Amino acid sequence: MIALGIEGTAHTLGIGIVTEDEVLANVFHTLTTEKGGIHPKEAAEHHAKLMKPLLKKALQEAGISIEDVDVIAFSQGPGLGPCLRVVATAARALAIKYSKPIVGVNHCIAHVEITKMFGIKDPVGLYVSGGNTQVLALEGRRYRVFGETLDIGIGNALDTFAREIGLGFPGGPKIEKLAQKGERYLELPYTVKGMDLSFSGLLTEAVRKFKSGKYRIEDIAYSFQETAFAALVEVTERAVAHTEKEEVVLVGGVAANNRLREMLKIMTEDRGVKFFVPPYDLCRDNGAMIAYTGLLMYKSGVRFKIKDTIVNQRFRTDEVEVTW
Ligand code: AMP
Ligand code: MG
Repeated sequence: MIALGIEGTAHTLGIGIVTEDEVLANVFHTLTTEKGGIHPKEAAEHHAKLMKPLLKKALQEAGISIEDVDVIAFSQGPGLGPCLRVVATAARALAIKYSKPIVGVNHCIAHVEITKMFGIKDPVGLYVSGGNTQVLALEGRRYRVFGETLDIGIGNALDTFAREIGLGFPGGPKIEKLAQKGERYLELPYTVKGMDLSFSGLLTEAVRKFKSGKYRIEDIAYSFQETAFAALVEVTERAVAHTEKEEVVLVGGVAANNRLREMLKIMTEDRGVKFFVPPYDLCRDNGAMIAYTGLLMYKSGVRFKIKDTIVNQRFRTDEVEVTW
């Protein structure tokens, strides 16, 4: 079976084509800026402009024509309204024009589900991206969120910090580079409330320290990472202890960070559980994960009518019944 997936919840438009065990194509384009953040409307315009060329590129890369596709999947939420609507409209147009079934996919679940293409069975997922930060795992027939950010996503915190110190978007990789040159740990707010996280206090204090002019920026970046990542690892470890699951996967754009990987590797080795990070193009926002999850959903009997394809900006992870 062949599924085509369209991802576009935020700044990245991605189109992926997959079978049950192979990624045939996975192309994307991300809206970036030299300075400042991104505006939802600009991102939506970006997606609309690139939809056709990216679709063509994906089909070419897969060496198939649209007629060969068995199901069209799209990211239904959570995400930015204007972006989601562009994606849903494109998916509906394709489904109607070529008489293909359509399936709406939860973006957060898709980030974790793609790891199953690599033999992962039932993981605790740490999903860390720009807008989202959650620790999720299957419990019964639903993904349950064991812990999540109460304010901003970790990627967003890194991006905002980068912007405040005059670096462009995305800021995560730039902060990582600076942090590698850090030498001194500076005390910053560490906030874990129950199983949930908060990064706004940390962000405010890091910016304050920067503006004071009293500290090396490398030391602030280093301390920012150490503090935020320790909190992420703590919550992930507690979810592993609670669920007794034997696999941990790290997904989302922030999974690129080597220090976060290292800290999770140490924790999982200590506990004797498996740790897996998918290839980066399947970690970041991408169409292949949407296609793959859509394929699993469709094969398990999930069917959408066009009226079911309305976007859901606040689509909750635990809203989806996992039938596959
Ligand atoms: P996503 O929202 O999943 O597309 O991921 C984008 C986010 O990942 C942005 O907030 C980036 O700043 C962040 N990111 C990308 N590379 C890194 C990195 N090496 N370290 C930390 N964050 C990163
Ligand atoms: Mg994402």
